[in-house]
Formats: sequence, C-alpha cells, structure tokens
Amino acid sequence: MAGIGVLDLQGGVVEHLGHLAALGLSARRVKKAADLAGLTGLILPGGESTCLIRLLRRCGLDRAIRDRARAGLKLWGTCAGAILLAREVVGEATSLGLMDIRIRRNAFGSQLDSFNLTVPVPAVDPAPIPLTFIRAPKILRLGAAVSSLLEIDDYCAAAEDPDTLVTVFHPELTPSLAFHRYFAAKCGLPIPNRQHPERLSKNSSHVEGAGPSSNRTGLTGGFTSSF
Ligand code: GLN
Repeated sequence: MAGIGVLDLQGGVVEHLGHLAALGLSARRVKKAADLAGLTGLILPGGESTCLIRLLRRCGLDRAIRDRARAGLKLWGTCAGAILLAREVVGEATSLGLMDIRIRRNAFGSQLDSFNLTVPVPAVDPAPIPLTFIRAPKILRLGAAVSSLLEIDDYCAAAEDPDTLVTVFHPELTPSLAFHRYFAAKCGLPIPNRQHPERLSKNSSHVEGAGPSSNRTGLTGGFTSSF
C-alpha cells in the first residue's frame, strides 16, 4: 500500500521512520527520484538545510519532488525540511519553494540556544505536545492559503496549507506521535492499529509545563551532530 516516505539524504531520518512504524504505517526511505513512486506523503527531516539543498540538486530530487507535489504528494518539513519548503528564506536562496511562507534560519541563535517546550496545539491533539527546537528557524509570514497551527511570542512555529505541513521543531525527537498521526490523516492514510499507544515509551528530555513561554528549558544533550 502507498505510504509515507522519509527523505534520506542527511539528518533525522530514523527517528521519523520509528514514529511512523509505531503508528503501524508503511514507510520508505527516499534517496532517489524513483523512490517517490506510489507515495502519498513525504517527510523532509531536520538536518542542515545548506547540505540538504546541495544533495537534493545532485540527486535530481528537487525537480522530482516539485513534480510530485504538483501531482498531489503531501509534504511535511521539520526544521531544515521547513526551510527547504519555504518560498522565501530571509537573506538566502530558496530551495523547493513549495509553501508560501517566509522563514528565517537559525533564528534563536546557536546550537546552545536549542530548547524544549510542551504546549497545546489544539488542531493536532487535545493534550499538550512536547516540542524540541534545535537551531530552529522562525516562520515570519504566512501566505493567504496558509494557516497557523501554533504561534509563540513573535513567530509561527507550525503551519499548513491543504498539501503541506511545516514545523520548526522536531516531533520525531519526542515520544509523542501526535504530529505523525496528524500528517497521516492529511495524507488520507488510516492508522492501522488504533490500539497502539499514543506515545512511545522511550524517555525524552522534554519538560512538561503549561504555557509556551513559561516552560522553556535548555537541552541537556543527547542530540547528534546531524542537526
Ligand atoms: N539550522 C539548521 C538549518 O538552517 C536547521 C536545524 C535543524 O533542522 N534542526 O538548516
């Protein structure tokens, strides 16, 4: 059955595959254009956008993803993936340019300014969701067809249009499956195993809390250099 692909050039690939598997969804690594065949959705993971842009071009995947997007492929960009999808990147060249947003790379500072939050995202899940921000971008403008799913302080952290989802944080690095479930629904894919636990049991470094600004904590480590 057609499922969800994860762009596998660099960055947080196995974490996304693990979350999709935990939901019982069929998933595939995408390393070349032919791997897109039959997919309903594609996740562009976090990593390093400058590196991903070069690799996408080298494999011809930039053109292939644009073509498939025009034919209805749903896309979700997490962090660097959101940068690839943005139509405008402040001070830098555009990559895929498939979503009408303006984004600023590294908008919080260096790797040391990475942090965790737990916040409500009512459109995605009734319970607050843990989020991990690693050298994250900020979404600064949304086009007319784009809706915000989460605003924090002066920026948008998650947004969508009918075909595309972007998050400046990393749901795949927390135990929550909520965003992966949400993307599967956007792709029109049923979740096969409804009994499956909503959260992975592995420990994560997130800190529970109430509001977006009140529970911001620095990361304590454990993240790889691929971000
Ligand atoms: N700062 C990275 C970039 O601009 C993104 C980091 C990430 O994906 N966690 O590409």
